Parts: sequence; C-alpha cells; structure tokens
Amino acid sequence: MADILHGHCLCGALSYQCRGKPLAVTYCHCRACQLASGAPVYLGALYPREAVSWQGATTAYRSSPLGLRHFCPVCGSTLFYECTDGSGQLEITVPTLEHPEALPAECHEWTRSAIPGFDIADALPRHPEGAPGL
Ligand SMILES: [Zn+2]
Ligand SMILES: [Zn+2]
Repeated sequence: MADILHGHCLCGALSYQCRGKPLAVTYCHCRACQLASGAPVYLGALYPREAVSWQGATTAYRSSPLGLRHFCPVCGSTLFYECTDGSGQLEITVPTLEHPEALPAECHEWTRSAIPGFDIADALPRHPEGAPGL
C-alpha cells in the first residue's frame, strides 16, 4: 500500500490525502449512510484525524450527535465522516480515492438494514449493527 493515498470529489473542487494505514475499512449498510450517499452501501476507511488533509471548502451536515458528514458544495460528493465523539477520527469514502482498490473492505456492518436483494455474498465478516471495537 502506498504511504499516501489521494482522492477527490466528482467535480475536482475538493481533493485530499491520507497518510499511513487506516484503522478500519468497512461497508456500512446503516440508513444514515444510505441516505447520505444515495447508494445501497457506503464504503469507508477510518483514519486518525491528523492523517487526513484536504484542500477546498466542504459543507458539513451533522447527521447525528456523533458525527459530521462533509460533502462538496459544488457537486455533492460525500467525502468525509468526521467523528465528533471525542475519538479524534475521520472516515474517508473509499470510492473517492484515485485508487479505491488500495483499501479493500474488511467487514460489513449494520447488515440488519441492508437493502433486500442487494447481494453481499462475499466471505467478509458481517455484523447486524456496528462492528465491535469501532
Ligand atoms: Zn465537487
Ligand atoms: Zn453507516
């Protein structure tokens, strides 16, 4: 894995870099991630906040007391989930990386709200709610 990964939004107004190895890479099937992304599943990589830097101004929406979802005010790409629970962590959306294949998913979480008929028949661990320890 490259030490620094680069990503950007759809229009290019926002770009970012993440350094080092992520703490976790998970598919999230929760309703908030479905609504925020407009996709059946959200693929995020969790980093220490200081490992991620970005250029350009985001708009942030507080989707729960635990976090802010940052998106591009021009094109709407969802780029970051900033944990405001005191953990000092920030999640990037893996599909916005220039090389999303660099961070393969490790598990599925919140599968109890997975969209019926969406096939997740891979061999990864799955958790009905949040993954333990995250
Ligand atoms: Zn954009
Ligand atoms: Zn979620």
